[in-house]
Amino acid sequence: MVDIAFIGLGAMGGGMAANLAKAGHRVIAFDLSEPAVTRATQAGCQRARSIAEAVCQARVIVTMLPSGAHVLDVYRSSDGVMAHAPSGALFLDCSTISVQDARTLAHEATKAGFRVCDAPVSGGVGAAQAGTLTFMVGGTDAEYKAAKPILAAMGKAIIHAGAHGAGQSAKICNNMLLAVTMIGTCEAFVLAERLGLDPKAFFEIASQSSGQSWSMTSYAPVPGLVENAPSNRNFTNGFAITLMLKDLRLALAANSECGLKATLALKAEEIYSEYLVKFGPNRDFSGVIDLMKEE
Ligand code: NAD
Repeated sequence: MVDIAFIGLGAMGGGMAANLAKAGHRVIAFDLSEPAVTRATQAGCQRARSIAEAVCQARVIVTMLPSGAHVLDVYRSSDGVMAHAPSGALFLDCSTISVQDARTLAHEATKAGFRVCDAPVSGGVGAAQAGTLTFMVGGTDAEYKAAKPILAAMGKAIIHAGAHGAGQSAKICNNMLLAVTMIGTCEAFVLAERLGLDPKAFFEIASQSSGQSWSMTSYAPVPGLVENAPSNRNFTNGFAITLMLKDLRLALAANSECGLKATLALKAEEIYSEYLVKFGPNRDFSGVIDLMKEE
């Protein structure tokens, strides 16, 4: 049993904190949203009224926050994590943020005597609740070893990506690839339909042929093909287009820092931006197929 502070109890963090409590850890939970903290207490966590109260006795601090600006503020501010956590505490930031922000946090935290890993996740809200996330971890070997048993209560795969920032590097590369394969998959389904193919027949063929990908076999953008895919519920309760665009823009910024053009990722950003304007911010990203059907 470990004393763990959990900050950021939203769509993802709520389920993750609940799984840590279920695994027998003492989880002290904080969020700016009162209802989010109440839900966490109902799931077995203890309420904290401030970041200071949450972290002051914790050996491990997990954060699951919207963006890099939120993360740096929560760790750095005078009433934040670094000002109040015990020396040597292990920070696990599971938010998706830029590689640069992750490295900045690691540098400052290490200098202040803490241990730190960037540990972003793959898998959506369902995986957060089921405890089946994939964690991509950036940190030293010793930090990864210390983080692994904690993360294992929330995930099915805990992979050491490399040094600080490597977890975020893996995350944005993965999601850049996902963004592109989903658009290709949607275009193929729309063309198949226009050519008179039964979507079920095309799915059966492509999912066993060279066009196969996760976008096809685990997340098909056409209803009735993959159980639990957002296409079965009119693209609600999935990976919101705003989050996909956030990740894609982090990837594009990293590409330009590395002097890369990333032609397909750039085009994908253009297509998803148009989808966002026409269909609104909450739909799942795979609903971009509806944009293509309009052509
Ligand atoms: P969310 O907006 O539902 O939750 C964020 C929570 O952080 C909110 O409850 C908010 O009140 C809280 N918060 C913000 N600032 C705070 C502060 N200063 N102190 C305490 N709490 C604060 O977001 P989410 O969907 O849970 O996503 C969290 C992170 O996980 C993001 O970085 C996102 O990119 C990443 N992610 C999300 C998904 C997904 O499917 N939703 C999948 C993989 C990764």
